[in-house]
Amino acid sequence: MPRPIVAVSATTRQESASDPARVRLNAAYIDAIRRAGGIPLVAPPLEAADAAEVIAAAGALVLTGGEDIDPVLYGASPGSQLGRVTAARDHWEIALVHAAREQGVPTLGVCRGIQVLNVALGGTLIQDIASERPGALQHEQAGGRAERSHRVAFSAGSRAAAIMGPAADVNSMHHQAVLDAAPGLAVTGHAPDGIIESVEWSGPEWWALGVQWHPEELDGRDAGLFDAVIAAARERTR
Ligand code: MN
Repeated sequence: MPRPIVAVSATTRQESASDPARVRLNAAYIDAIRRAGGIPLVAPPLEAADAAEVIAAAGALVLTGGEDIDPVLYGASPGSQLGRVTAARDHWEIALVHAAREQGVPTLGVCRGIQVLNVALGGTLIQDIASERPGALQHEQAGGRAERSHRVAFSAGSRAAAIMGPAADVNSMHHQAVLDAAPGLAVTGHAPDGIIESVEWSGPEWWALGVQWHPEELDGRDAGLFDAVIAAARERTR
């Protein structure tokens, strides 16, 4: 059976004035998709009008981590703790989500990816956990990327629980999070402080799941998230 092509979103960034703009993506995503049996193809920011063709060529979509999302896209004004935003990437990835939903292409959102999924479908974000939720856990963990620093409890019967179990310790490298979930997205995972850590499309017609942590940096059950999106891609084309 041919392996599913997985479109993997990336950013375009110029590190300094003298540096050329480069398409960038953490290679850990590539490794995780390959281990799960997919063929990763990097999808850098293009015009929104290109999204439907990219999605039509893909068996699955993985939305990767990265910059903050421009709050104007969810009807808020920028707070003082907002980080770097990338308008071209925002518009591109939102168009990818719309195309994936229309075409039913399985979608896994990671970190920024859960936030893109939510904003694209009409949800909102916490712009900065530390300043907006005093007393919350430290979601920008001090340890390395493969260390697990807080627990997430998953809703019984959810896709996330089927993969991760009723609860799991995860890594945490984010300062933003889902605030109001978009229509159609079910919240399926919470950190002990109430921060939303996973969402998924509530109907059977589209396999879409977002996680706030970085499973591509972890092993064990976390690799199952990539296995699951590849399995959904195979199921769709059977
Ligand atoms: Mn977290």
